[in-house]
Amino acid sequence: MEIKADTTVCIGAGMCALTVPKVFDQSEDEGTVVLLQDDVPQELEDAVRRAVTLCPSGALSVS
Ligand code: SF4
Repeated sequence: MEIKADTTVCIGAGMCALTVPKVFDQSEDEGTVVLLQDDVPQELEDAVRRAVTLCPSGALSVS
């Protein structure tokens, strides 16, 4: 699973980093999402899908 994050859409709500801290972080300057890994290991796929659903801005997508 590959994940993409659009920082121009991200509003820095932080739900992704709270949900899957192994995959998502937030930039210290702007609070926008930072991908720690864009190729998601299988054991984290369900959690990443949940984070995509929880993101209030629609900044995250998976393929
Ligand atoms: S949950 Fe969405 S809006 Fe919030 S920091 Fe993550 S990508 Fe950005």
